[in-house]
Amino acid sequence: MSIKRDLIKKEVHAIRTVADGVFVISFVRDFKFRAGQVIAIDIVPDGKPRLYSIASGEKEDYMEILFDEKKNGQLTPFLSKLNAGDAIYVSEPFGTFVSSSEKAYWIAAGTGVAPFVSMARSGLAGNKILVHGARFDENFYFSDLLEKILPERYVRCCSQQDDTLHYKGRLTEWLKTQENLPLNHQYYLCGSAEMVVQVRDILIAKEIPFQNIISETYF
Ligand SMILES: Cc1cc2nc3c(=O)[nH]c(=O)nc-3n(C[C@H](O)[C@H](O)[C@H](O)COP(=O)(O)OP(=O)(O)OC[C@H]3O[C@@H](n4cnc5c(N)ncnc54)[C@H](O)[C@@H]3O)c2cc1C
Repeated sequence: MSIKRDLIKKEVHAIRTVADGVFVISFVRDFKFRAGQVIAIDIVPDGKPRLYSIASGEKEDYMEILFDEKKNGQLTPFLSKLNAGDAIYVSEPFGTFVSSSEKAYWIAAGTGVAPFVSMARSGLAGNKILVHGARFDENFYFSDLLEKILPERYVRCCSQQDDTLHYKGRLTEWLKTQENLPLNHQYYLCGSAEMVVQVRDILIAKEIPFQNIISETYF
């Protein structure tokens, strides 16, 4: 999705590959933000920036963005080719998909885990259960960090790798098998429109109150 925002020039600090076609790009943080917020990014000052969740913690020196390269996409194939020292253009952080110390499930698919990584790195993981769906084990991004921060409360649902050590199946299947999901918890969903709609339908069928379901849709 492209969005019109004032963009500020930054210098890429680093870019690393975290899985096939998936990258983390970073630059110096000189904005304040709340974990869960997004920024607009472009590689030119006057183009069509796309939105990305911040994956780093609120107090960390560098802002990190997790993104996957879309074949024939207008931005990501170019973003992934940047090197340290190259220019990128970013907006100030914004958005209302923010969490606090309440009891909650964080439910993510693919790169949709990014806002929850930021929340976890910002000290908000205490009462949370993270359910992450991905195709292959390599797509459980930031799993080393999440294993440490959310021991016993980090469920990985792997849909396409037969020898996975994690739950074998889609996160929607895992959710359907859960009896007695707490009705008084918040449920934060982040991922594609398809994933968000499917998960919301499952939660509503399990009588989770609609107002307890908060979603961020990547499109
Ligand atoms: C709130 C929010 C947060 C987000 N956070 C993240 C994040 O943290 N990480 C992340 O990876 N993504 C995130 N996204 C998605 C991101 O903003 C981009 O949409 C995504 O990276 C695609 O960018 P692109 O410009 O490379 O691809 P696009 O140019 O948008 O193209 C996407 C796909 O559509 C195809 N396509 C383009 N135009 C057409 C057409 N006319 N007809 C048919 N097919 C077409 C392309 O081939 C490509 O495969 C977020 C989106 C939102 C709304």
